[in-house]
Amino acid sequence: MRSLVTGGAGFIGSHLVDRLLAEGHEVVVLDDLSTGHRGNLEHLKRQDELEFHEVDVRDHDEICKHFEAVEWVFHLAALADIVPSIQKPLEYLRAGVDGTISVLEAARHAGVKKFLYAASSSCYGIPDAYPTPEDAEVRPQYPYALAKNLGEQCVMHWVQVYGLPAISLRLFNVYGPRARTTGTYGAVFGVFLAQKLAGKPFTVVGDGTQTRDFTYVIDVVEAFTSAAKSDVIGEIMNVGSSQTYSINRLVELLGGEVVHIPKRPGEPSCTFADVSKIRKLLNWKAVTRFDEGVAIMLKNIDYWRDAPVWESSNVREQTKDWFKYLA
Ligand code: UDP
Repeated sequence: MRSLVTGGAGFIGSHLVDRLLAEGHEVVVLDDLSTGHRGNLEHLKRQDELEFHEVDVRDHDEICKHFEAVEWVFHLAALADIVPSIQKPLEYLRAGVDGTISVLEAARHAGVKKFLYAASSSCYGIPDAYPTPEDAEVRPQYPYALAKNLGEQCVMHWVQVYGLPAISLRLFNVYGPRARTTGTYGAVFGVFLAQKLAGKPFTVVGDGTQTRDFTYVIDVVEAFTSAAKSDVIGEIMNVGSSQTYSINRLVELLGGEVVHIPKRPGEPSCTFADVSKIRKLLNWKAVTRFDEGVAIMLKNIDYWRDAPVWESSNVREQTKDWFKYLA
């Protein structure tokens, strides 16, 4: 088996690469290293079955040659984070739409057996129902969410028009070792673990009672591989933990002081996936308990040694555009 992972040097992508190699696949990684790191694949450098190409997936002529004999494509390459997406919508939408159609076309011409797209639960915005099912209204609140959702619409269009055997997985708050720590202020785990290492207080948004469907990365990888192996095509499925946990609970598990920062506009007070569809179609469910997952991250805390340490003052500066445009 030969699989291709776009964004394979990123957080979720690199875990997927680990799993595919462990299952005996040859794996081709396409990554422009804009948000991924070579270091995420460093432990695999002696693996002959792994091929790495530093390339922007929008470069269609360049990527096509790497799809030869590929059976499964996992399209995870994208730009991450909310704030920079508000500042640079053009880049985010080009990466999300042009990048996705470039990969879709390469996959279609190569005749791949399965195409898996990493979509985002951010498409639900502030939903009416919890847990949130896949047929909830799509309400992107910022360009990152819009870009991810437009990418998903392209994938579904390729199913409809070209019969591409594709599935889209809407991922809810994925966390785990190698959770991203780029220069921008982003996902809560990277922020809190860097603060813990530096002995600084956790910057808790609002009163910390808001909850998130934190889903452990290994469970997410299992959802991707189950989807690839299944006969299911043309479906959109939520991938979540079946639970929702407060930020205060996360603080309790990590242990440390807190400082409160203002609630951001457009932020849901809860994310919580309705996972009945994926359970029914793929017989998948998350198995990692939140306290276990957090304990694994604490064991690997050194990974965040070089991550930026945020304090309430520079968070305010970083999120200025968030308040300016979304309020
Ligand atoms: N959060 C927080 N402090 C931070 C960053 C995030 O308390 O410095 C909270 C945020 O309010 C949200 C949760 O952590 O409830 C997850 O935030 P993240 O940005 O990781 O994901 P998203 O808001 O997109 O679900």
